[in-house]
Amino acid sequence: MEYRRTAVIKLDTPEGADKHLRETIEQFKYCSNTASEWCWHGDDGYHVTSKAKAEDALYDQLREDTELTANLVQKGIHQAVESIKSGVERLKNDQDTSRPKFTADTAVYDKRSATFHRDHVSLSTPDGRIECDYILPENPKTPPTKYVANEDYEFRRATLHRRDSDWYLHASMLKEDDDTEPTTGHRTVLGVDLGVNQLAVASTGRFWSADEFTHWKQEYEQRRGDLQQCGTRAAHDAIAGVERKEDGRFEIFLHRVANEIVAEAVEHDCSHIVFEDLTDIRENVPQASWHHLWAFRRLYEYVEYKAREQGIEAVQVDPRNTSKRCSTCGFTHDDNRDGEDFECLDCGYQNHADYNAAKNIGLQYLRRPQKSSISGVRTRRSASRQRRQNADDGGAPVDVRLNSEGSEIPRTMRTAKP
Ligand SMILES: [Zn+2]
Repeated sequence: MEYRRTAVIKLDTPEGADKHLRETIEQFKYCSNTASEWCWHGDDGYHVTSKAKAEDALYDQLREDTELTANLVQKGIHQAVESIKSGVERLKNDQDTSRPKFTADTAVYDKRSATFHRDHVSLSTPDGRIECDYILPENPKTPPTKYVANEDYEFRRATLHRRDSDWYLHASMLKEDDDTEPTTGHRTVLGVDLGVNQLAVASTGRFWSADEFTHWKQEYEQRRGDLQQCGTRAAHDAIAGVERKEDGRFEIFLHRVANEIVAEAVEHDCSHIVFEDLTDIRENVPQASWHHLWAFRRLYEYVEYKAREQGIEAVQVDPRNTSKRCSTCGFTHDDNRDGEDFECLDCGYQNHADYNAAKNIGLQYLRRPQKSSISGVRTRRSASRQRRQNADDGGAPVDVRLNSEGSEIPRTMRTAKP
């Protein structure tokens, strides 16, 4: 059995390293964006989804254009091809999509471009190798120390990230175990509910408000309306300009939310990020405008490819009853929910309705018919948890990521509510 984990390791960079690491990331993004552009416009009218083909066409030029080592250039091309592939899948399903753009400050390393040690890493840059020490929490039982210090876990590859002028390594680690009893295997998920007031709410209790989005949308419609009244050719051109500018602004906003959702999943050691099925979202969120629907789909698309870079899979589940069902006892009733408030008529559990829904979305995924490897986990559950599951239509192990106090209203909401 295989166990995959992403260890997020803060780096202690030597003096003067910052410039070279930043340069690495800029050049890496250049490789991915150049490859994305080429693959998207493609060959003879087809998008290119073959890594070998993209490498043949671009490798020499990118080696020439950048100071990156061979392996980093290849990884930059591969990253673009992977995103193009998922874009093509979406096109096949008639889903809205556009050329992948790489804006995040990241670069992908494997064992040829980096040497991973248990306490430091050596990273290839345009200025040669740079060695960075890990800054690890002392408690050996908490991630990332739990994985980094454990020789059973092997470093496979890692993404270098820059966040708030600090450097992090998101290392994919793998443990292979002959032990056929999957007692330590677990599947932990982050549920995400999408909506009109709260654009996204995670099952950890983190909220992303839609205020900014709604404000722009109103501003945009106002300006558009004013221009439409003019009716002139110049006004028509101005509308197109406003649309382009707004789309760009929305996209930057959605990239930020997507990055934060993925970071939340990494931080909580999740293997999956679960959304409701977006096919029928119009029925599930009747207040949503076409603008919202566009944002939901785009957000999912961004999360999907950003998550994949971290070894996390984004999935969609049937959203039926996720807003009416109690995430604590499973009791399902229309009257459990009143606008943003959820109060279970059976067990009395109270919380923000979208937060309750986010937990249910995560649970819905875990409740699906599962492969046998998961059954071992159930025996580890406490008796009370087990009873609750039985009451809860005999569902799968409850391992959705919640905040430490599942029943508590998250702080962000407490301040937001009078
Ligand atoms: Zn209940």
